[in-house]
Amino acid sequence: MPAIHRLSPRLANQIAAGEVVERPASVVKEVLENSLDAGATRIDIEVEAGGVKLIRVRDNGAGIAADDLPLALARHATSKIHSLEDLEAVGSLGFRGEALASIGSVSRLTLTSNSDEQGSEGCSAACEGRDMEVVVKPAPHPRGTTVEVRDLFFNTPARRKFLRTEKTEFNHLEEVVKRLALSRFDVDFSLRHNGRGIHNLRGGQSVAEQQRRVAAVCGPAFMEQAIYIENAASGLQLRGWVGLPTFSRSQADLQYFFVNGRVIRDRLIAHAVKQAYRDVLYHGRHPAFVLFLDLDPAQVDVNVHPTKHEVRFRDGRSVHNFIFSSLHRSLAEVRPADHVSAAE
Ligand code: ADP
Ligand code: MG
Repeated sequence: MPAIHRLSPRLANQIAAGEVVERPASVVKEVLENSLDAGATRIDIEVEAGGVKLIRVRDNGAGIAADDLPLALARHATSKIHSLEDLEAVGSLGFRGEALASIGSVSRLTLTSNSDEQGSEGCSAACEGRDMEVVVKPAPHPRGTTVEVRDLFFNTPARRKFLRTEKTEFNHLEEVVKRLALSRFDVDFSLRHNGRGIHNLRGGQSVAEQQRRVAAVCGPAFMEQAIYIENAASGLQLRGWVGLPTFSRSQADLQYFFVNGRVIRDRLIAHAVKQAYRDVLYHGRHPAFVLFLDLDPAQVDVNVHPTKHEVRFRDGRSVHNFIFSSLHRSLAEVRPADHVSAAE
């Protein structure tokens, strides 16, 4: 047996990256979540070659102080929690302090930021070499942060082999942007691919502005054939848009469910929705919906998985029943005449 030795920081990060960074879409998810955690109200995303060649995300959030830049790129370094108690009430999307270190270990990453301290003009940081030494230099930047990720997986050929076509990778990446855009109506998002504008979503909280965003993300046909629902009972609140049976899909590709503002994929919820549509959809067809469930954070554990798509409800049965009955009733209330007028 060879002697025991410590892994280099880069190798340790690359191993961790295996969990967090699967493809360009995962990078975009982590970087956008950081922008939202930093309080950004505008986020511009630019990608090339499906995100493999370049992902550049610029936000107008709080920024990172020059002295903190090396830490932002270090593993297990976060500004978001200090203690286990913080973790239990975590309000930020991130908290593991792993994303940037992982991404930086499998790409060429540059972080440029300005936290708008007195007299500061901004700094950039890049990590290089086996030990991921961080090189910081002055770089002008308005308040906020730009993260630039080039040549994803350039140094991990085994991972690169698993990447699909540019189009497929871009579709995954766009899907991440759509989910986050639906989770934050108040934030402006833009997305460009290979120099072409794909989305330009203006933020706004009014019902009309929300509907405009849902239509931009899910397509105008969905908005025309969806009903708005709202229901509340025993600490649970559900609101959003559900597609009429006339707008059923051959795939489950237009299904967005948010719990306390985070997008989730949950078997229990999927089952409740499916049951509610059972009588009105043909076998093999899938409903379309954008739904927001809000409940006491103490009633739900969002820390189940690093990519955080799963949640655990304290009282899953009540959540299931509530979702099922809210949808079931709304769908039953839609009379044939409504179908017609809604579809017109
Ligand atoms: P986490 O989000 O889990 O804390 P990350 O590796 O994603 O870990 O980020 C590390 C730290 O870098 C964050 O805690 C935050 O302080 C800082 N940071 C990253 N991105 C941004 C950003 N866009 N704006 C401001 N601070 C950021
Ligand atoms: Mg993060």
